Parts: sequence; structure tokens; C-alpha cells
Amino acid sequence: MRLRLSNTGSSFEPVFFNPYRKYLEQRFPGKHIRKLCLNAGFSCPNINAQSSGCTYCNNDGFAPRLRSHNDLMDQWDRGRLALRRRHGEVDGFIAYYQAFSNTYAPLDQLRSIYADLPYSLPECVGASISTRPDCLEQDIIDFLDQLGQDCFLTVEIGLQSDRDHVLKRINRGHDVACFHDAIKRCAYKSFDLCVHFMIGLPDEGDDVGKRLGQLAASLPIRSVKLHNLHIMKNTPYERAFKNGDITAPSEAWYLQQAGAFIRELRIDQYIQRIIADAPSDILVSGDWCHNKQLFLNKLQKQLNA
Ligand code: SF4
Repeated sequence: MRLRLSNTGSSFEPVFFNPYRKYLEQRFPGKHIRKLCLNAGFSCPNINAQSSGCTYCNNDGFAPRLRSHNDLMDQWDRGRLALRRRHGEVDGFIAYYQAFSNTYAPLDQLRSIYADLPYSLPECVGASISTRPDCLEQDIIDFLDQLGQDCFLTVEIGLQSDRDHVLKRINRGHDVACFHDAIKRCAYKSFDLCVHFMIGLPDEGDDVGKRLGQLAASLPIRSVKLHNLHIMKNTPYERAFKNGDITAPSEAWYLQQAGAFIRELRIDQYIQRIIADAPSDILVSGDWCHNKQLFLNKLQKQLNA
């Protein structure tokens, strides 16, 4: 069993999956807090007349139940009901602005959406804002820093790959230097940082899990989201997959990579997501990622081996 120094430095503990739930338990003692996905109607700078977006992107993959409910308060009310139906008693909710790039708008528009959080949404205890590194201009970071003083706030930044040639191949529309610049300017503010990584992209190599884990451990970030490449309908990658130009990772290979990634994380870093979550009606590649609990059991067994 692999061991590492515990928080106190006085003993050794096995490497376990460090779920974000544990962090929320520390931040909100005695409370059951859930993240509630919202679509605030943003777009993405990588989807325009010149670019159809990342090669794997199908935006129906974002919180599918929101596809036809555009009003934020309506989404919030439906989300609270759904989360309570699924998880029983919930004491508060984190507004998770998930779809597209949630800082891709003029500052005034961002203020009108976020400035009154958490009080603008009933039972809201914080917010999580997901975006791209090229949508974090300095005035936006300054605003988020102000917001984070009144509201528990996480800014989630998508990187996916640490290699420029991979980012180019997936038509990400930004490079690794852009990501590091955003992290540098967002570091040590009043909000937490979370970074999104993807495993299984073409040309990454078999050391990708370890490499990305080492990168995450080197950054001033609180949490990570790890995502296996999965192929969704109506994307450039659907065609490439069907033509045999790319493959999607098997569960066994991804388990190894995810394990290697986790082993590199710092003990003060938490995992918000470990496998992708796509609705069956738009998923083309293997559906093994639908059974999260089974995957987590296998992962824990591997980490304990
Ligand atoms: S940055 Fe996100 S929303 Fe934009 S194209 Fe890529 S995956 Fe889609």
C-alpha cells in the first residue's frame, strides 16, 4: 500500500480518494451541501463563425435537464427539488454556473448575474463559476475577488491537456501559457480554484495521469475535476471515432491513469469529479462511465493495492 505523510506530519496514512464532499463538510460543519447546476445563458469564445468549438464538445452534455429551462430562478427551484428527491435532506446549495464559459461577458453583465450572491437565490450558500483561462481578464478577476469576500466562491478553469499540440488538435482555442497566466493572476485571492483535466485525448501518452497529477499538485488550487474522453453525438470527434481516427479510453486504462493522477495530488487537494457524466442519449463511446459507484470501488481497490 502506498503511504504518505498525514496532515500533522506525525504519522503515515494510505492514499485515499479525497472527495470534495469532505472539504464541504469542513467548510459547512454539520450541513449537507450540494452543488446545483445552472445555465445562465452564456456562450463560449471558442464557438463562433470561425470555430465550432472543442472537438469533443456537445453542449447538451451540460446538465441535460436544463436544456429547456432558461429562467435561472426556475432552474434553481427545480434543481432544489430534484436534489432533495435524490439525496434526502439538504441544508444548502452551491450555485454551479456550469454551461459554456461563465465569465465570457462584459463586466456589467457579470455583475448583474453574480453580484448579489449568495442572497439572490434562496438557500444558496456559495457559488462555483466555470470558465476558460482566456475569459479571465484582470477586471473580472478583481470582481471575483470582491465577490469571494461575501460568498463562498470557487472559480473552475478548464485546461484539459498540459500539451500545446494536444490543445491544438482538440481545437481548444487557447494554449498552456494562457492557462498558467490565468492561474498566476487568480492565485491567492478570496476564492478557491479548481482545474478541469481530461484523460484519453489523442497524443497524450501513457504517462498522462501521472503528468497531470504532478501539474495539479504544483498549482495553488483547492480541487480538481478529472474527465475521461468520451465521444458524444454531433461533435467532430463522433466522426473521427466512427472513422477509426481516434479511440476512447477503456475503463481498465482509465483506471490506471486516474489512480496515477490521484497519487500525485497534495493532501490538501480534493477531487470534485473523477469520471465523465454524459446522458446516454448523446453518448457514442463506452458506457462504463455510467456506473460511477462501481468505478469508484475499483479505483479505491487499485489505490489500496
Ligand atoms: S470551451 Fe467548453 S463550451 Fe467552449 S467549445 Fe470547449 S468544451 Fe465547449
